[in-house]
Amino acid sequence: MQAGARRKPDAPSAKTSTAMAKVKRSFNNRTCEAPYLIFLGPPGSGKGTQAEKLHQSFRLVQLSTGNLFREHIKNETPLGLKVKSILAKGELVPDDLTVQMVVDRLDKPDTIMGVVFDGFPRTRDQALALHQRLDEKAKCITAAVSFRITDDEIVERLSARRTCPKDNSVFNLKSNPPRENDKCDLCGTTLLRRDDDMPEVIRHRLQVYRQQTEPLIEFYREQDMLIDIDATRSIQEIEAQLDEWMPMFIYNANS
Ligand code: ADP
Repeated sequence: MQAGARRKPDAPSAKTSTAMAKVKRSFNNRTCEAPYLIFLGPPGSGKGTQAEKLHQSFRLVQLSTGNLFREHIKNETPLGLKVKSILAKGELVPDDLTVQMVVDRLDKPDTIMGVVFDGFPRTRDQALALHQRLDEKAKCITAAVSFRITDDEIVERLSARRTCPKDNSVFNLKSNPPRENDKCDLCGTTLLRRDDDMPEVIRHRLQVYRQQTEPLIEFYREQDMLIDIDATRSIQEIEAQLDEWMPMFIYNANS
């Protein structure tokens, strides 16, 4: 685990402090059954790409709250209709709606093999709710991986990001282009630029990330659960690094 100088989180309220102390006690006394990993990092840091790779290689469920919301929007469910404009603006969906959606997903049997949380938790209250839920199921977080990258690189990357509206595959016109121009490698659907990958919205999402999500890096560092990864490296290098760490995650989960 590396130490790093990061911004201190806001002082927690009395209620949050008590909840955090409880979290800390049980994090220090972990008996996890399967790897439950949290990927933390700004939009465009590559969390989703790597979560998908862990799904392919280790059968971990990629629990991407962004993808789940986009599915709801596409299917015009009541939740989708509620959150559509929130996503388009780059704001966070309220915690209660987000947590409920995650809890419902965690109830599915495939999560028994392990989960990569991609884009969740994004607030301290989400982190506490996740912990409580896993605790009830005698599960716990194995590690939180922090993807570190600068804002300039993010804006460059996200402007070149294209996604498949059908199967959520992600490409980058510069670093990971599709084989055929603008077509998904897996299903051939025409790739799209996400509404929230426009420069104005990217900047806003970065601001929201710095204010609400970045403090979680310290939160997990304090539990001695944080691992930093240099997210400016290539997709293949980061994948190799995560593969190297996986036995440790699996071992920790079963010890
Ligand atoms: P990125 O990591 O590229 O920002 P995501 O696909 O993870 O994109 O998320 C897209 C949007 O979905 C966010 O900007 C936000 O509106 C919503 N969202 C995703 N996860 C959460 C969450 N944990 N809490 C609240 N809103 C979320």
